[in-house]
Parts: sequence; C-alpha cells; structure tokens
Amino acid sequence: MTLSQRILNLRPYVPGEQPQDKKYLKLNTNENPYPPSPKVQDFLRKFDFEKLRLYPDPLCTKIRQRLSEKYGIAPEQVFVSNGSDEVLSFCFYAFFDSTQGRLLFPEVTYSFYPVYCDYYGIAYEKVPLDGSFAVDLRSFLRRHDSCGIIFANPNAPTGTCLNLHDITLLLENYPRTNVVVIDEAYVDFGGASAIPLLRDFSNLLIVRTFSKSLSLAGLRLGFAVGRKDLIQALFATKDAFNSYPVNTLTQLIGEVALSDEDYYSSVTKRIIATRDRFSKKLLDLSWNVLPSKANFVFASKKGVPGKEVYFKLKELGILVRHFDEEMTRDFVRITIGKNEDMDRLLQALKDLF
Ligand code: PMP
Repeated sequence: MTLSQRILNLRPYVPGEQPQDKKYLKLNTNENPYPPSPKVQDFLRKFDFEKLRLYPDPLCTKIRQRLSEKYGIAPEQVFVSNGSDEVLSFCFYAFFDSTQGRLLFPEVTYSFYPVYCDYYGIAYEKVPLDGSFAVDLRSFLRRHDSCGIIFANPNAPTGTCLNLHDITLLLENYPRTNVVVIDEAYVDFGGASAIPLLRDFSNLLIVRTFSKSLSLAGLRLGFAVGRKDLIQALFATKDAFNSYPVNTLTQLIGEVALSDEDYYSSVTKRIIATRDRFSKKLLDLSWNVLPSKANFVFASKKGVPGKEVYFKLKELGILVRHFDEEMTRDFVRITIGKNEDMDRLLQALKDLF
C-alpha cells in the first residue's frame, strides 16, 4: 500500500488521555466540572428529532446572529465551526503563508500550533517567554519578516495573561498586512478580551470556544470574530473542506447556551474562586504556582519531576497533564474542578510529596 509523503511526515497532536480502565478524577483536559445550562437539558428533552432529516445551515446563521449581538459586531464578522481547534486550523490555512516569512508564537503555548504549521507547510519561530514564564510581546516585535502571529491569552499550559495595553502596543507596531490571531479559549476565567480592539485593528482575529466556560466540550463548537474579509476567508476555507462542520443539534444547543448568561457567570465565578483557593493552598505546600487567569494552574515542586507527579497521581486515580518538553518538564497542568475535587488532589499531593 502506498501512503502519501504527507502522511509519512505527519506528526499528529496528542489530546489529553481518556483511559477507560477505571474511573478517574479528570483534571487533565480543562473541561468544566459543572454541567451545561439546565436550559440545554430542557431543550434536549423537547427536541424534535425530525429536524435531523435535513442538512444543517452551512452558514450557522442563527448562532452567528446571537454571537454578534453579544459582542456588538456584525453577523458577517463571526465565523462558527466544529470546535475552536477546527477554527484555528482554518486560520493557519487562510492567513499564514511562509513565502511572506515565519509564523511567530510563544515558545511555550498550545502544542497544536506547531502541528498545524507542519500540516500546512508553514515555517515558524518560537519566541522565548520572559523570566517569569509570561509571553513577552515586545520580543515578537524584534523579529523581522514574519508572516503573522498567534498566541493564546490566557496562555496554555501556563495560564498567564497579557493585558490589553501590551496587546495594543503589539498591534500598533506590527504590520497591518499580517494577521494576528489571539486564541481566547480561556478568557472568561479572568482574562481581558481583545474583542474591543477589533474596531481599530483590521488584521486582528480572535478565536473562542464553547468547550470551557460554556461547559460544552462534547458538543464541538468554536468561533472566530474579526473583520469581514478575514471571516470570508475562513468561510472559503471551510467550504473547500466541509460544507457542514457544525451539525443541526450543535447549532441549536449553542444558541440555547448563549441565552443563559446568568447560569454561566455563576459557574465561572465558582471556578475562579476554587482556582484562587487551590493556588493559595498549593503555595502553602511550597509548590511553585504560576499566576493563572484560566481554568487550570501550571505548578511544580522543587526536586520532583513533573512526570513523577503525573504518574503517582494517576496511580491514585487522578489525571493531570504533563508536557515532556525542556521548558515544561518540571510542571504539571492541573484543571480546576469542584472544591471537593481540589481537596482530594491537595490531600494526595500532601501525602505523596
Ligand atoms: N485553544 C487552546 C489554547 C486550548 O487549550 C484548546 C483546548 N485543547 C483549544 C483551543 C481547543 O478547544 P476546542 O477545540 O474544544 O474548542
């Protein structure tokens, strides 16, 4: 059997594990520990299955309308697809072209970015973090001949957050001909969204997800907001790949979820409170904990390799995530669960280390 050269060279992304051998406390993929809005449950109970007979709306018109109202922009400024991973993948295809230079992203960031670069043949350069493990946007401006920039804010897996002042400085000093993508998957947990900057910067595109703060990781729904020409480019990319990446049920559930801001803001507040409480307790146990504005923390303990923390916790039925790369080796990334989940983890860490 002959495989393509492409597939032989491919290095796929590895998602967080989902072992089935026993029941684990899953603190490894940044899922929300609380259920989706009760309105989603009501909707599902009453859903008319006849609706599945027809193809979904390829433009996701209604959900884009709702998102445009929420963010005070035009519906033509919103693109919706099958999870923000797919939106990101389309961004890499549509905006970044190595003949113009290398794509820049932080040295430590979402590990899917280099995978998409390889997939689409985009050359890239990783820009070092500053001394406190934060993204240093000033060093992005010192690089010349780039074809674009992508970074996550808050960053993953570190959880650190950039302020709008620094992001504005970057955008003011970066060529308007190159697209800057900000991946705001975790922004609802205390970060500052760059959506208000869309008015001033035509080359800015922001990617968001329903997987984290809206507790719908299983649904696969993500979106991008930006100028109309960038959104049109994303639609062209999607339509060259799949007319219907967002199924009917997903579009309808997404709409329902957007109608329950009160529920989600109370859940988000709870997660933030748990994160801050957990971080403090971990610091009290002499762990190093990076300041997080996400629904996870990145933490290390002097003299204990991250891998050992990961394996010992797994034996106790608790999953956290370890990234075995030079800069991240000492750390584990811990998703924030409910208070009782974090208490169980704290007790395990106390007993083990
Ligand atoms: N961006 C970042 C920074 C992430 O950590 C994740 C979750 N793995 C995603 C995007 C993708 O989220 P989803 O595809 O579930 O929308």
